[in-house]
Amino acid sequence: DASHGTVLYLDDVNVSFDGFKALNNLSLFIDDGELRCLIGPNGAGKTTLMDVITGKTRPDSGSVYFGQTLNLLEMDEPAIAQAGISRKFQKPSVFDNLTVFENLELAMKTDKGVWTTLFAQLNGEQLDNIGRVLETIGLAELYSQQAGVLSHGQKQWLEIGMLLIQEPRVMLVDEPVAGMTHQEIDKTAELLLSLRGKHSVVVVEHDMEFVRSIASKVTVLHEGSVLMEGTMDEVQNDPRVIQVYLGD
Ligand code: ADP
Repeated sequence: DASHGTVLYLDDVNVSFDGFKALNNLSLFIDDGELRCLIGPNGAGKTTLMDVITGKTRPDSGSVYFGQTLNLLEMDEPAIAQAGISRKFQKPSVFDNLTVFENLELAMKTDKGVWTTLFAQLNGEQLDNIGRVLETIGLAELYSQQAGVLSHGQKQWLEIGMLLIQEPRVMLVDEPVAGMTHQEIDKTAELLLSLRGKHSVVVVEHDMEFVRSIASKVTVLHEGSVLMEGTMDEVQNDPRVIQVYLGD
């Protein structure tokens, strides 16, 4: 099912804030099942781009499509989330007073905003799904721990698990390894790589070593546009990219 269709399609997107162009004729295509890294200096437009995809920010012009047919510019934030685009912000937001398992259970039961099953017993299939996600995020042995006692890295993985349990087609992940130890960074790379083919994942990240370890394709944003796309080697050897990062 990892057909190589385009899952996200942005064409000629423009966003301005008080005359300042945060996105400037930006075009971007993300394939089904792809793991893409988005880099660029501060102010390049990375956050604005994520905000456009999730419906938080409306562009002044341009097109944004999900799959072949869903026009995201005609959908509000909840509808976009419901359609299968989820976002993880930089700071983990897990429920400290619930266990690891309960955090996943809650995320599963509140998927699509449907709260009616909140107090229902989990059925076998749901238990299996939670078990699978626990394995994927490497927290199976800690399932009964309170989330509040987890390390920063473990909380980030749990939150990724809370997205995964909702089976998103696209995950937007903001600076996942900020504040992590080297070991945690390596485990995060492994985790994100394991999602390839099953989910499209767009990662915004400043840690270039981490980006190199996960991305086959990197998109460089600069002044609201795509400066270039390529492998990490191509990107790091590109004079325009070097200029943007070191030139000013
Ligand atoms: P990045 O995430 O790459 O650092 P952003 O998308 O946050 O870049 O910002 C791009 C530019 O747009 C920045 O210069 C920022 O100051 C500006 N900007 C972002 N959001 C707003 C806003 N709500 N109002 C005004 N300016 C904004």
